[in-house]
Amino acid sequence: DNRFGSKVILITGAGSGLGQASAIQVAKEGAKLSLVDLNGASLEETKNKVLEVAPKTEMILITANVADEKAVENYVNETVKYFGKIDGFFNNAGIEGKQNLTEDFGIDEFQKVVSVNLNGVFYGLKHVLKVMREQGFGSIVNTASVGGIRGVGSQSGYAASKHGVVGLTRNSGIEYGQYGISIKAIAPGAIMTPMVEGSLKQIDPENWEEVGKQFVEPNPMKRFGKPEEVGYLVAFLLSEQADFINATVIPIDGGQSYK
Ligand code: NAD
Repeated sequence: DNRFGSKVILITGAGSGLGQASAIQVAKEGAKLSLVDLNGASLEETKNKVLEVAPKTEMILITANVADEKAVENYVNETVKYFGKIDGFFNNAGIEGKQNLTEDFGIDEFQKVVSVNLNGVFYGLKHVLKVMREQGFGSIVNTASVGGIRGVGSQSGYAASKHGVVGLTRNSGIEYGQYGISIKAIAPGAIMTPMVEGSLKQIDPENWEEVGKQFVEPNPMKRFGKPEEVGYLVAFLLSEQADFINATVIPIDGGQSYK
């Protein structure tokens, strides 16, 4: 219950979906939180949800764009200035981008998705790892995707960025294991977050729930994952219990990747 007592957990994309669910889970287990998102108002929502379940949680909220290296350096510095350390980092903020065949995929769209999902994760690693190496401890979870393990189609920018996140995870994991730091990625399948709800509503604003049902029909479990299910996994991976899991990717997808 108190797995994260006295531990400081930094989370990007904390205003919604997987970041929010993970913030709630680690706070329930005693963590202090540094929450980062591009959308400041969404961080207030997460803060209120955290305080409902863990009223004593110490927390700072930082509005920042992870695609901007200066902003990343700043959120890391702010966290260390306030809490003195970073025990765990959920390097999670990401966007989906528009879907299109490769030949029609706009370079602006490609770069936009890559700048958030890949550059953002790289900047986070770069600045947090410096802190963790000096501390001599830490754990990092990067958010990849099923689309970072296999092809899903129509998502050049997303696929390139999420495969890149897997590459960064493997590379940094082998570099930093010797300093007592473990780095892993998660590969979620379809999880019902505001991101996925938004995509379904783009397809059919009226009957998006029906579209969703058809979408998960090929999944062995025939349902979407829940954000809190990802929260449990992230909490475990950020805890000391998962220290020997390093430089690898853990799917959480109902079996979709292996079908
Ligand atoms: P979400 O849209 O619900 O939440 C993402 C959060 O990240 C939002 O609060 C958003 O404001 C924030 N964000 C976006 N761009 C940012 C930026 N440049 N700087 C800072 N914050 C930014 O989405 P989610 O489903 O919770 O997705 C979280 C992560 O999980 C993403 O990396 C996504 O690619 C990945 N993922 C999600 C699914 C899924 O099915 N939901 C599947 C695989 C991977």
